[in-house]
Amino acid sequence: MTANVPVVHTIEALRARVVAWRANGERIGLVPTMGALHAGHLSLVEAARRDAQRVVVTVFVNPAQFGPSEDFTKYPRTLPADLEKLESAAADLCFAPAVEEMYPHGFATRVEMDGPARADLEDRFRPTHFSGVATVVAKLLNQAGADVALFGEKDYQQLLVIRRLARDLDIATRILSAPTLRETDGLAMSSRNVYLSAAERQAAPALFLAMQEAARRIDAGEAIESCLEIARKSVGEAGFVIDYLDARQAETLARITRRREGPIRLLAAARLGATRLIDNLAV
Ligand code: AMP
Repeated sequence: MTANVPVVHTIEALRARVVAWRANGERIGLVPTMGALHAGHLSLVEAARRDAQRVVVTVFVNPAQFGPSEDFTKYPRTLPADLEKLESAAADLCFAPAVEEMYPHGFATRVEMDGPARADLEDRFRPTHFSGVATVVAKLLNQAGADVALFGEKDYQQLLVIRRLARDLDIATRILSAPTLRETDGLAMSSRNVYLSAAERQAAPALFLAMQEAARRIDAGEAIESCLEIARKSVGEAGFVIDYLDARQAETLARITRRREGPIRLLAAARLGATRLIDNLAV
């Protein structure tokens, strides 16, 4: 049986570990997650390791970032399996606080953001999502006091939101990103992929494949809007209901109609049955 990575549940215990490492001159990397870990999360642990001797992974399903009709209660919670994966990834510590530890009685603060948090993408469909993300990430960054924190490009708008948050609130932790890990058929790894039925799982790669095709066409000089239309049509034919499939300026998320206004990022969210998938791709 594999020994599990140490787990702490309180901010105080987290800080005690970090202080001891720091006293030893060790640099600390933080990887915030909601658990249900997969290889994509573990690639962030590996990336953190390049900049830090100690890597802390947080596992917290953050109620503040779920809307009232979203999947907070049914979101997969698999801490024992997560700890085994963290052990194999050689993480140094797992911080898994209870909701009451993060949001004790009387909690009254929420971080509200403009800029990348109001780009008419995820925020259009999940209006309270990014304030929930910004609030919990600000807390986790303050709690851990890490040198670097790793976030996935998988949640591209979120990554820009967190970079902005760290800059605006003068948080000293350096925000780093890592590319999206995919299944062999192209589907972006996600904790939510477990919701897909067998038939939906078969159809799911169509979203990324259509985005890849659109990126190729845009790169070849075809008109952006017509490339997006072709992609939307094939994603729809695969059985998805699209929330958005759009091309944006990669740094600002501003709308873009011509290649030379780039770099361009394609971003999409679409529902397959009851499961909502998101993906994005650089052109
Ligand atoms: P989550 O647990 O879904 O909140 O994700 C935690 C972190 O892992 C976020 O920074 C995500 O962007 C990142 N992440 C999720 N899926 C992937 C993936 N397939 N490849 C790389 N990073 C990912």
